[in-house]
Amino acid sequence: MSVVETHVLVVGGGPGGYVAAIRCGQLGLKTVLVDAERLGGTCLVRGCIPSKALIHAATEFHAMAETATKPRFGISLAAAPHLDMPAMTGWKDGIVDRLSGGVAMLLKKAGVTVINGQGRFSDAKTCHVGDTTVRTQHIILATGSLPVELPHLPFGGDIISSTEALSLSEVPGNLVVVGAGYIGMELGIAYAKLGAKVTVVEAQTQILPLYDAKLVEPVRRWAEKHGIVFQLGAKAQGQKGKGLEITTADGKTQILPADKILVTVGRKPNTEGWGLEDMAVAMNGRFVKIDDRCATSTRHVWAIGDLVGEPMLAHKASAQGEMVAEIIAGHKRRFDPVAIPAICFTEPEIISVGQGPDSPDTLQGQFPLAANGRALSMDAGDDGGFIRVIARKSDHRIVGIQAVGRHISELSAAFTNLIEMGAVLEDVAGIIHAHPTVGECLHEACLKALGHAIHI
Ligand code: FAD
Ligand code: FAD
Repeated sequence: MSVVETHVLVVGGGPGGYVAAIRCGQLGLKTVLVDAERLGGTCLVRGCIPSKALIHAATEFHAMAETATKPRFGISLAAAPHLDMPAMTGWKDGIVDRLSGGVAMLLKKAGVTVINGQGRFSDAKTCHVGDTTVRTQHIILATGSLPVELPHLPFGGDIISSTEALSLSEVPGNLVVVGAGYIGMELGIAYAKLGAKVTVVEAQTQILPLYDAKLVEPVRRWAEKHGIVFQLGAKAQGQKGKGLEITTADGKTQILPADKILVTVGRKPNTEGWGLEDMAVAMNGRFVKIDDRCATSTRHVWAIGDLVGEPMLAHKASAQGEMVAEIIAGHKRRFDPVAIPAICFTEPEIISVGQGPDSPDTLQGQFPLAANGRALSMDAGDDGGFIRVIARKSDHRIVGIQAVGRHISELSAAFTNLIEMGAVLEDVAGIIHAHPTVGECLHEACLKALGHAIHI
């Protein structure tokens, strides 16, 4: 048995924990990071990165498959493309390996000691990992989250979570997705592109219920046009042979054929099995309770990322991790973002930053991608996409930007910058936007809100 003494112990090597550890190292704090699995956490190993790789490959395959049936841009294909699913998965795994290795290197460069294994706390200063006991001044809890299981659809066999959906060895003939949040919609659309017959079962009456209906409409339209069937206002009941029994919106029982049932009904904080109960930290519902410095109710115990609540997004976890490291090093910091961007990598993509269109005392300007040369030149102008800017009536300060469209996700940084930096409509109106780019729609949306858009 060995004892390691450190100043900071980070538990969890996801985008919250590893960023916190790197920043601690940069600031000269003696730091140990413990992770039970591979460095990179949910995001890198079974979340953001592999899902985006799968979505990209599926989009390429789908474009080729469509070209084989109908020439596009004067290009035709003599035969339909062949899909080697294990090879596609291998390509995706290669990206994960590369990034996970990169995280290990960055931690080493920052002087962080990494211990691989499940950490278990006996009190708020002591953590046991296998034969090693780590004693520490500060603890940063970053244990992340786990998929929510439905009691009548327990994971196993053909009932899968997003983790298994990212590593299937073949495309299921019939895929039923339970839950039309962003994870279910991203993966459902990817599998539809790969050739699965996809049905999405959602208890609410709208897909992607966290977004406003106008923003979601182009995604719904694309999905229905490409054969995805929605059962809205419906409840999944349980597996029946090779199918899923549901109660439809009108109260009827129906069995949907399902080679795989992908359950994506949310994620829950990972709070069990590692001694949280022995640390005397207060809870906020299912999440660990924190203040605006990510301090828990126990002195020198900090918590970040999915463990502490919504939005359960990688970039929020990282921002909190960086901040906590700086606070431990003596800097004055608070977690007080004006806006945290959220993106759905669906077809088309959705971005939402800041306040929505129903906010009181605001005006808005909206510009369609169909009127943008770059969107048309990328075949991204005909799916109903747009950028919408929301500004305060009183002083024109931009408080929200939403968009839907192909390739639109890359604009999220521009949107968030404007909101965080307190830009007003006139600022954007006066900024020269490069031509031809989809970013010009942002300029035009602001001009529209001011009443003098040029191109509509
Ligand atoms: P996690 O990434 O969950 O990391 C927690 C780590 O802690 C894990 O590595 C785990 O092994 C380790 N751990 C837990 N307990 C212990 C213990 N006792 N001892 C040792 N180690 C332990 N977010 C986005 O922002 N953009 C996206 O596009 C996106 N796509 C997603 C797609 C999918 C399919 C999924 C599932 C999630 C996606 N997310 C996305 C969400 C994102 O993955 C999470 O918000 C993010 O990973 C949270 O980071 P975290 O550091 O809090 O925890
Ligand atoms: P022009 O667009 O050249 O328009 C001048 C007009 O005046 C013409 O229609 C002409 O017929 C008319 N005209 C001229 N003399 C008379 C006359 N005596 N009587 C009546 N009509 C007359 N710029 C970018 O920002 N991004 C790019 O990606 C980009 N790509 C380009 C690619 C190519 C192949 C080319 C050639 C140019 C590109 N440009 C690009 C440059 C861009 O096209 C020009 O900067 C832009 O068109 C200039 O606009 P303008 O209004 O000054 O003149």
